[in-house]
Amino acid sequence: MAETEGRVRRTRAARAPVVSEATREKALVVHARLCAEYGCPIAYFHDLDPLSELVSSLLSHRTRNADSGRAFRQLRKRFGDWVAVRDAPTADVEDAIAPVTWPEQKAPRIQAVLRDITERRGTLDAHALDFLGELPVPEARAWLEAIPGVGPKTSAAVLSFSRLRMPALPVDSHHHRVAVRLGLIPASVDVGPAHAILAAQLPPEWDAQTVYDNHEALMLHGQQCCFWQNPACGRCPVLDLCPYGQARLGDAAPREG
Ligand code: SF4
Repeated sequence: MAETEGRVRRTRAARAPVVSEATREKALVVHARLCAEYGCPIAYFHDLDPLSELVSSLLSHRTRNADSGRAFRQLRKRFGDWVAVRDAPTADVEDAIAPVTWPEQKAPRIQAVLRDITERRGTLDAHALDFLGELPVPEARAWLEAIPGVGPKTSAAVLSFSRLRMPALPVDSHHHRVAVRLGLIPASVDVGPAHAILAAQLPPEWDAQTVYDNHEALMLHGQQCCFWQNPACGRCPVLDLCPYGQARLGDAAPREG
């Protein structure tokens, strides 16, 4: 039987973390400078329904965008709809998503997620998860995270990247690395728990595009400047705010070009 809208099986939504005024201000300055650097507003890269975005997000873990995109298209072309994917022999699904990392794990996980949603919503059509758009973000995230195998990054991606366009903040490994080096979160905080802390640093009235821009700008900074090895601190627009960069270069280091 479909689950009543707004009621969740269990709730992981925790009380919002306490954020100091200094951290809040720093997060805003970082956002403004990185947005200037990377050109906000940044265009959305998907316009999928939320169920399709969920499958796409599950495929994308630890996989290059080009490969997960190819796997997603192959899945759609071979099976046509999500009911057929759910009911197919798992080996066939695994074969269709071969371009991603760990297809042998992702195929049964995707089928289990589709079975779970069928049980809770009574449908797997393109509108099966549209009701999430009527919920506050914390409730919509909690509904998604009640599905085994769906964590904070996936729930935020579904709400933000799909056509729901909700103000939920995803955090990937690039975004996380930049936030740690800038001192917005302690190094001991992993990617999962970082979601709630970083989201609480942003103004609650920000719209979906601005929250999306925040994620994209920090992610792009991680990809194009704040590299895992040898970050380019000398040309970084937030060097003066970054304890990690200052420790590497010294307080008097001039900004390059
Ligand atoms: S100063 Fe260096 S470590 Fe800090 S955010 Fe910039 S590139 Fe990353």
